[in-house]
Amino acid sequence: MRNVWKYAIAGQVIFGPDTLTELPSCLKKLNVNKPFIVTDKNIGGSRIGLRIKEVLAGFDYVFWDNGIPEPTTRTAIAAAAVLQEQGCDATIGLGGGSSIDVAKAAAILATFGGNPADYFDENKVPGRTIPIIAIPTTAGTGSEVTPVSVLEDEERGLKGGITDNNIRPWVAIVDPLLTLSMPPRVTAETGIDALGHAVESYIAVSSKYLPPDKDYIFGGSTELTEVLAEKAIGLVARNLRLAVFQGQNEEARYNMSLASLIAGMAFGNSGLGLVHAFSFPLAKRTHASHGCLIGLMLPYVVDFNLTACMPKLKRIAELFGESVAGLSAIEAAGRGVAAIKKLQEDIGIATRLREIGIKEEELPAIAAETIKIERLVRGNPRRVTEADLIEILKAAF
Ligand code: NAD
Repeated sequence: MRNVWKYAIAGQVIFGPDTLTELPSCLKKLNVNKPFIVTDKNIGGSRIGLRIKEVLAGFDYVFWDNGIPEPTTRTAIAAAAVLQEQGCDATIGLGGGSSIDVAKAAAILATFGGNPADYFDENKVPGRTIPIIAIPTTAGTGSEVTPVSVLEDEERGLKGGITDNNIRPWVAIVDPLLTLSMPPRVTAETGIDALGHAVESYIAVSSKYLPPDKDYIFGGSTELTEVLAEKAIGLVARNLRLAVFQGQNEEARYNMSLASLIAGMAFGNSGLGLVHAFSFPLAKRTHASHGCLIGLMLPYVVDFNLTACMPKLKRIAELFGESVAGLSAIEAAGRGVAAIKKLQEDIGIATRLREIGIKEEELPAIAAETIKIERLVRGNPRRVTEADLIEILKAAF
């Protein structure tokens, strides 16, 4: 009868155009003397890099632009070494999820030592780290509010995640103006990642059905995460096409930054499901971006789950502006799946695994690796077997 849940988010979120200018006062409030800025060459050499340097004029800081897309444990180790050598006392992730995640992992290593892989999986970070500030320049991952740092573990050759409430950023500065320079493809792939977060959070197994004695960070969907996820789905449905095809449309960029943030607030508590579980073994075998893999798998996984969450898929159809009046429950749910598929196609996301270089004979091994990612598989609304995973992969092939 009584549903008990917990909810966590970043210490503070500062949202809106030109909020990057709030950074100096944030640093002062946190008593930070010398922040370590993690970014990549692309952002570091762009107007965003120049802008943050202007904003921080008079501050002592280290600007580390050796970040890479889809970073590895080695990236985080290299960042942490410079951070410590230079005596920095906070990290700032400036960029997409890749830079923010390295900033989180570098903060862990600078505070507690060891290797990033020591902290993989859930609840392994022993306490609060040095302050972490997240400034996203993409609108997709929601990493600015999540307890996650995703890194490729080079030793195991697999992407993995550190999931711990201790690494939720102290402050998230979400300035939609920083996303205006994203090219259409990055906009599409990061934007559909936000949709993947919102949809997987929305249909995730309810917190009521997860064991109450486990201190899960990803504790299933709740009344609060459902409201957030619905809001994020509607924002993506109405704004992602505009952001992709009219990159300078500030309203669409604003709404996509908001969608990404809110989707992060949802999935960063409910957890995700099979779409994200599939993305890890797929990432190992392809050069496709995280967002591309999420966007590719999303309609196939949602379709597999159709019978387990028909009212929610009907609601998704409505959020996409589809008319569901007079339809049966299953038809209305089908409209939700179709709306997601149409968005995927309209914005040019790869629609088949073969398009990104996956071979049919690899599907069983991908399924076998996916089923082991328990923290994500448990969130799926339908119980799954390895054979089910192979069927989903075949549909997507
Ligand atoms: P990204 O950070 O890898 O960036 C992709 C590319 O876009 C890079 O070349 C970058 O320089 C460029 N770029 C970023 N912002 C730009 C801008 N404003 N203008 C022009 N170019 C810009 O992309 P992402 O999708 O944000 O992050 C992906 C990573 O985040 C993956 O490793 C993924 O696994 C991870 N992730 C983390 C979480 C989390 O909660 N921590 C959630 C989802 C995904």
